[in-house]
Amino acid sequence: MQQLDQQFIDNRWTPSRGERCLPVMNPYREETIAEVSTGHPADVDAAVAAARRALPGWRATRGSERARYLERFADGLVRRREELIRLSSTNNGKVLAEAAIDIDDAIACYRYYAGQARELEQRQGRLVEVEMAGVEARCYHDPVGVVGLITPWNFPLVTSAWKLAPALAAGCSVVLKPSEVTPLPERALAEIALEIGLPPGVLNLLFGDGEGIGAPLAAHPGIDKVSFTGSNRIGEAVMRAAAERSADVSLELGGKSPILVMEDADPGQAADWIMAGIYFNAGQICSATSRLIVHEAIAEAVYAALAARIDALTLGDPLAEESDMGPLASARQRDNVQAYLAIARQEGLRAIRDASHRQLPEQGYFVAPTLFRDVPTTSRLWREEIFGPVLCARSVSSEAEAIELANDSDFGLAATVVSADRKRAVRIGRQLQAGSVWLNGEQLVLPETGWGGFKRSGIGRELGPWGLSAYLAVKHLVGPA
Ligand code: NAD
Repeated sequence: MQQLDQQFIDNRWTPSRGERCLPVMNPYREETIAEVSTGHPADVDAAVAAARRALPGWRATRGSERARYLERFADGLVRRREELIRLSSTNNGKVLAEAAIDIDDAIACYRYYAGQARELEQRQGRLVEVEMAGVEARCYHDPVGVVGLITPWNFPLVTSAWKLAPALAAGCSVVLKPSEVTPLPERALAEIALEIGLPPGVLNLLFGDGEGIGAPLAAHPGIDKVSFTGSNRIGEAVMRAAAERSADVSLELGGKSPILVMEDADPGQAADWIMAGIYFNAGQICSATSRLIVHEAIAEAVYAALAARIDALTLGDPLAEESDMGPLASARQRDNVQAYLAIARQEGLRAIRDASHRQLPEQGYFVAPTLFRDVPTTSRLWREEIFGPVLCARSVSSEAEAIELANDSDFGLAATVVSADRKRAVRIGRQLQAGSVWLNGEQLVLPETGWGGFKRSGIGRELGPWGLSAYLAVKHLVGPA
């Protein structure tokens, strides 16, 4: 069995000081496929020291040079594509087609930030227009320094790409901690770093849990910025730790995103987009559109179309081509979702589809795709992130009511609007409090457009030029011309 008890520090695999190991699971077979060290604060000290040693040399490289490394990261992922798709599917439980989308997303991200690194070089030292005569001001963008990157388990290689690619493009050196639930895919990043001759200490990869690695990394005085993706509870702890030394943070947190379906929409077409928004990745998507807000004029038709589509979903082995949905990524996550389903029973929620409508596979951490209708806005299932294949629906009688209901949430990560009238969809989208609003389509996540949330969904933006800015500090040189 694979042992992940070595940390990648200074381009060398070094034994972790952590004394305990955690099982890494195949969530479909419910088997241990590897063991990962919990890590140790001493591992963090060693990785941060390596990153600090590497920083002066790395920040002095030209953007075009860093771009070449990023291209080679993308090439390294392309070479391993098939192997990583299977690995991600095995470790996370997502079906092959979804794992393939992830790897392609990661590859596109490294390539995009290669372009951004070149563009950064072009804009260094640009003249700033100033009113005062005889004064010259020029603007530079310096890397923020050594960054700590902490990622969750739902999109292996993607959430790390969204951080690592812009951080390297900016000239930061990195300590990256993937989730202990899915540590296997990210191992490829260390292999690629060695293969492409990335200077030692520029990328350090630490395996471990929150206690062994995450918390000491967030609190480390040698870390200039922490970029975190995960739950609100941990994100807030990371922010508190960073606040102790006034360090910068970017946070990508939870969501409870709405999908608004207007009365002019085609119910069948809307149902396809609703399905993709909540049952993709078994609902373990931060931007899952888990609140369906549907106009009463077509609500019954949409519910019927959804029931038929849910019945047609094949749950099974994520490595099997015929599977549409795999298990949840861990027993813990399955239990979290089951706890919400128990609340639904207590609250007497009305299920159009749930576990009573299908036979679940005999093995694997499965949860049946579930659809509740007429969910009260006071229900915890309406208000809290469930992070599983559970859709809560309500009908409304007007556009204004739909918008008000959509915005009545602590979160504001994403939203989808479905209307036959594109102008109307744009009008509604403009009024929604969300970082990404999809109009009449599936959730398109593009490297060029920003990603991040309003309200409690986070602080800052990833992707696009905003994702690069997160790792840059603006500097002006000003003096007599
Ligand atoms: P989590 O918060 O439990 O863990 C995230 C990471 O933080 C893991 O690597 C974990 O080991 C680490 N960690 C744990 N304790 C820590 C501590 N005290 N200090 C520092 N790090 C610590 O989240 P999860 O269960 O892995 O992921 C699910 C959550 O992630 C959901 O809430 C989801 O919405 C969110 N998420 C958000 C986005 C986004 O872009 N907004 C994307 C993916 C996931």
